[in-house]
Amino acid sequence: MAALHGQQNMIFIPSSVDQEMSKHMYNSLPQEACGVVLGEAAAGGIRISRFQPIRNVAPNPLHHFSLDEAEWIRCIFNEPQLVGIFHSHPQTSPVPSHQDLMALPAYAELIKVYLIGTPALTSKSEPCMHLNGYEILYNVEDPSKSNQQKRYDLQPAQLRMT
Ligand SMILES: [Zn+2]
Repeated sequence: MAALHGQQNMIFIPSSVDQEMSKHMYNSLPQEACGVVLGEAAAGGIRISRFQPIRNVAPNPLHHFSLDEAEWIRCIFNEPQLVGIFHSHPQTSPVPSHQDLMALPAYAELIKVYLIGTPALTSKSEPCMHLNGYEILYNVEDPSKSNQQKRYDLQPAQLRMT
């Protein structure tokens, strides 16, 4: 029974898509990079098929991200396969910041997957990306989380490169 609670959905990512996100992250340094991932539900999780960069229009793009509204809205209406958003943390670990969680209600209804990347090095000291994946949780039963900002949460998900 407890196993049900521990059951995680998998996020499948083609290595080519991982490389595109990584490239966009490095090209955007020192600013945070952001974009959307497209894909579909698959057995055991979500299968990502494509990455689309979106301009970061945050007033302070060194430490925050804000998707360009026109590009984001175009995605919502034109991309039936929209499944998630990606952004990078150039200076900090790839875990959701307080601001990320506060901004979640703006996206949460429309996506299933939340990806955060950070610059890293391979064992051969080559630049790569450390990527973390999260699933959107909807806290509908917790009365202490009744305000808008706390209704959504992010739960770590397993990533599998394909
Ligand atoms: Zn962030």
